[in-house]
Amino acid sequence: MSTNGAGAGFETPGLVCAHHHLYSTLARGMPAPPRVPKDFGEILELVWWRLDLALDEEMIRWSAMLGALEALERGTTAIVDHHASPNAIEGSLDVIADACEAVGVRSSCCYEVTDRNGADGMRRGLEENERFLRGGGQGFVGAHACFTLSDESLAAVSGLAEDLGAGVHIHVAEGEIDRAAGSRLEGVARSDWLLAHCVHLDRPLEGRIAHNARSNMNNAVGYARPTRWAGSNTVALGTDGIGGDMLEEFRIAYVRHRESDVTASPESAWSFLEGGYELFPEAHEDRVVWSYEPMEPWHLAFTPGVRPLEVTVGGEVVLSDGVPTKVDPVEVRARAAEQAARLHSRL
Ligand SMILES: [Zn+2]
Repeated sequence: MSTNGAGAGFETPGLVCAHHHLYSTLARGMPAPPRVPKDFGEILELVWWRLDLALDEEMIRWSAMLGALEALERGTTAIVDHHASPNAIEGSLDVIADACEAVGVRSSCCYEVTDRNGADGMRRGLEENERFLRGGGQGFVGAHACFTLSDESLAAVSGLAEDLGAGVHIHVAEGEIDRAAGSRLEGVARSDWLLAHCVHLDRPLEGRIAHNARSNMNNAVGYARPTRWAGSNTVALGTDGIGGDMLEEFRIAYVRHRESDVTASPESAWSFLEGGYELFPEAHEDRVVWSYEPMEPWHLAFTPGVRPLEVTVGGEVVLSDGVPTKVDPVEVRARAAEQAARLHSRL
């Protein structure tokens, strides 16, 4: 990512979050699970698959509003989202896309197709992707992960994507539990697919890869070693739902790389940030003026707290003097807190 602007050195294009779960924004402070999860599979079962079942449309809306607001406040102008709300599927992708637009952030949406909520849940997830994309929405056909998809369901996902001329956004070998993803997707994944995590991926696949350094550490799934794909796949950076602060994610991706290899340079993690523009070329036209100069990897790897002063998306100033212009951030936070309280009481 080169800086631009005559002699400025503190402007960059908008940042891209290549893998987000805006529905998880209200999870913070949620009641503890019935027992402490012992591995990644239990984290899914005891935390995330209980949370997504409890979501309704108002929770989805304000979760997305808050997530988009927090992204914008950190200079992120494009979010590639991956959504699940098994009891509020129909229309959910429009709710998220509208929330992002209201805040002034670009979005790419998908609904995660899975067999874990039965055949009807699978079908309705597939239909939500089709409804949204045929209606002109920007996004992918979403899929959870191979280990919750039968061969038939996976074929339905890839078939729909092919029909629509879209890619598939899917979790790939995030944990040991999904170790078979490589063999399941070999010859199926295509260059326009977005493969999230790829920690335990055992062979090259077609598609772009979203690296989520902090989430992987938080789930103790191991190091994804994303630089091993440098010659074959574009790697971009995602948060996997832990906020939308891509400079922080860059910093963590760098230090995780460095932990495994003391010769690692922050230029690698910086190149992952730039990989986001393959997914979201429009964000490269957005402009962020930062509180720090110069916006270069060797500086930013060791400089927390850098913040945007002004953000312009598609020619419109959406953040001025560090404050969003299209929404009232105090109101968004208040409404999101109300919905978080409702969500937590359900849990
Ligand atoms: Zn994810």
